[in-house]
Amino acid sequence: MLKRLMRAIKARLDALAAQLERLAAAREFVEVWCTTVDPDSHEFGAELSCEEANTMAELFRTHLYANTARQLLAEHAQNCAGAANHPEKEYAW
Ligand SMILES: [Zn+2]
Repeated sequence: MLKRLMRAIKARLDALAAQLERLAAAREFVEVWCTTVDPDSHEFGAELSCEEANTMAELFRTHLYANTARQLLAEHAQNCAGAANHPEKEYAW
């Protein structure tokens, strides 16, 4: 009984460690992206699909880079024909 409980706890801790590793990688990606992309030449958003733009904007927003999220969506809007594909989001904190 105790061994089974210990195995279950270890499995849960391993899963949490994997989640933390993925979160750290996402955080590193956001930090690099948001601190190295020239905000005056944001052309990346225009190249993204609606779903890609939403996903990246949400990633930036949840890591406290709301301005980058707004800039990305503004760039995307230049080539987007489907505003309905973008749920209303408040990117101001
Ligand atoms: Zn779009």
